[in-house]
Amino acid sequence: MKNNKSYFRKNIDEMDGYTPGEQPRDMKYVKLNTNENPYPPSPAVMKALKSLDAGRLRLYPDPLACELRKTIADIFGLKSESIIVGNGSDDILTITTRAFAGEKDSIACFEPSYSLYPVLAELQGCRCIKIPLGYDGDFYIPSDSAKKANGAKLFYIARPNAPTGTLFPIGEIRKICRNFKGIVFVDEAYADFADDNCVGLLEEFPNLIVGRTMSKSYSLAGLRLGFALASGKIIEGMMKVKDSYNVGMPVQVLATAALKDRKYFNETREKICRTRRYLVKSLLEKGFEVCGSQSNFVFAAPPDKDGEGVYRRLKKNGVLVRYFKGPVTGRYVRITVGTDKEIRILLRNI
Ligand SMILES: *Cc1c(COP(=O)(O)O)cnc(C)c1O
Repeated sequence: MKNNKSYFRKNIDEMDGYTPGEQPRDMKYVKLNTNENPYPPSPAVMKALKSLDAGRLRLYPDPLACELRKTIADIFGLKSESIIVGNGSDDILTITTRAFAGEKDSIACFEPSYSLYPVLAELQGCRCIKIPLGYDGDFYIPSDSAKKANGAKLFYIARPNAPTGTLFPIGEIRKICRNFKGIVFVDEAYADFADDNCVGLLEEFPNLIVGRTMSKSYSLAGLRLGFALASGKIIEGMMKVKDSYNVGMPVQVLATAALKDRKYFNETREKICRTRRYLVKSLLEKGFEVCGSQSNFVFAAPPDKDGEGVYRRLKKNGVLVRYFKGPVTGRYVRITVGTDKEIRILLRNI
């Protein structure tokens, strides 16, 4: 077809869109590429699923998700007014971008970090200031980051970072909250696997939003439930931006059940942290360089620094990990912490 006129906005035509990790269907892999949890969700979720009242599906769900937000608020010692829930934390990120960054504005993020942030900027038609992380064998926040980001309306920081696993010192986050003039969104998708988190900073900084997801630490990637914690005023504004019914009734019920089972949650995350220590130790023994990880994955570079080679070799042998092109990231592969058995298979083939 000649003269193929496009009906799309210019920024949509020009962008590539987000590339999720492979979800192959051609054969059964040991799947360590998308940071899913290897353990099933809490038995309380199965129980709640069985007793779901399908008749209630006739009605719209609670647009304010009161019970779910109250459950989250209790866990964090906050008020329900400080919580917003969404269709996965990707929905929370979309809401945040739409709420705080207009066309011609900019957002800031580190590089390498979660690759959705620049995509959100493109969708919104705003600019993305990419601030390279410092690198000295591991990744760190450069000291002038707030200054470099200033001018942007929104600063996305994944902590622990993806794909590197780094838990940036909390003092660095505090410094950015103090010196950056816009909203600081700390994406804590992996914080349940880390030694500390930024929830305690919310009292101190009115420009801070903390994002969470149930996809990783609650084994509920298929459910789609994410949430954010911030001041009542920030949440009130974000509520105006979200779809009225952005979380369905079954999701609200099942997420609440999972959150209430603290015992299962704690057991599962401890198992993952234990396997992570075993994986890190084994990779170091094989001569890999391993970034400090406080998440459910590790970022590791083989002795020959050929990340792609490792990725290909593993895939041929039925083990999927994630590889990120790039001068520094290309030396590494990102390996999701699976069960001990899955990790033993990985180690045999790496
Ligand atoms: C997985 C991930 C998310 C997305 O979580 P969902 O709730 O599944 O949308 C957000 N941020 C980071 C850094 C992640 O790794």
